Amino acid sequence: MKHIQEMTKKDVRDVKLVVFDVDGVLVSRGTKIKTKGNITTLETKKISEENINHIRQLRKKGFQVNINSGRGLYMLQEMFREVLDSVSLTFENGSATWMKGKVYQHVNSFSFLRDVYAPLKRVKHKNIKGFEPKEFIITIHCIDRVKAIERIISKHKDLYYVWNSEAYDIGVKKKQMKSIGLRKVMKLLKLKKKNVMVIGDNYNDRDLLSNGGVAITADKSRVKGDFYVDLSGEQLPAYVLMEKLLSF
Ligand SMILES: [Mg+2]
Repeated sequence: MKHIQEMTKKDVRDVKLVVFDVDGVLVSRGTKIKTKGNITTLETKKISEENINHIRQLRKKGFQVNINSGRGLYMLQEMFREVLDSVSLTFENGSATWMKGKVYQHVNSFSFLRDVYAPLKRVKHKNIKGFEPKEFIITIHCIDRVKAIERIISKHKDLYYVWNSEAYDIGVKKKQMKSIGLRKVMKLLKLKKKNVMVIGDNYNDRDLLSNGGVAITADKSRVKGDFYVDLSGEQLPAYVLMEKLLSF
């Protein structure tokens, strides 16, 4: 793995699409969520003005931009409101993509997940902070692992859970993966693997990074790439990458 500063213009000559994970890449990690009875409070993070400007600059330079996140569409639309004409949004770990106001659904998880909601909701544990509103996957924020959640999901061979040290993402194996969404976007935009650069920081980005022509990891302890960005740098990883791309 090379450091991002070793990246040359030659490394990106075929790149037409830049795909960004959100948490840990465009905003810092950590989601503030709280549930009390039927009231869920969820913080919307802001994309910094400098990152918004950099996304605009990337578009001007001819790159297409895709956001590929585990978050829900309502949240991503809010975060990227100012640049919605410049980005497409692939949400809930590759379940669907929003592009120019149109939603392309890539998977149907209904029949796989409908039976686990009730048992999951019944789990009472001091570690559980709340269910993040989602349409196609299930995300449960917890301060630490909860064995009862893992036991419920393990009984269903079609389902996975990913624990990323702040939440469980629960979805359908081989169907709700960031790479599935990426491949659909590549098809829509008529692009090949070598045309795609991806950046991500977490376990749910592994399949995403392995599907990009140029892969950048923002946490090399969790996911491998062709290049890495320092996790604890002064700037967020997406900013460092965009600075580099804009310098060519
Ligand atoms: Mg992330």
